[in-house]
Amino acid sequence: MTTLFERIIGGEIPANFVYRDERVVAFRDIHPRAPVHLLIVPIRPIPTADDVTEADEALLGHMFVVAAQLARREGISADGYRLIVNCNQHGGQEVFHLHLHLLGGKPLGPMVSV
Ligand code: 5GP
Repeated sequence: MTTLFERIIGGEIPANFVYRDERVVAFRDIHPRAPVHLLIVPIRPIPTADDVTEADEALLGHMFVVAAQLARREGISADGYRLIVNCNQHGGQEVFHLHLHLLGGKPLGPMVSV
């Protein structure tokens, strides 16, 4: 089954792209939770963080390198930011195509609400 993010990557659904290379894309979240809210998405879909294997190590590392580059480009590196991967129901995952949220541009408060 095609994921929502595959349809965005393929151009079927429009998105505000900020980055693309041969392995990952990044675009702005449609419902931003912070002044900067980007989604860094591997082109090859992995459903959840729980499906990651050793074969994905380089790809996941690359996602972090891209996140740092984009944080610098967005001007939020010095103040700091948050990288989030939600997994399955308790993690609040909505789109089952692994992705890294890059959030920043204001103090983000506690890591989780209790
Ligand atoms: P998750 O909860 O799976 O970690 O995050 C999914 C994210 O995708 C949510 O923050 C949601 O706002 C975002 N999202 C859902 N549909 C779309 C869409 O059609 N376009 C974009 N740009 N973001 C979307």
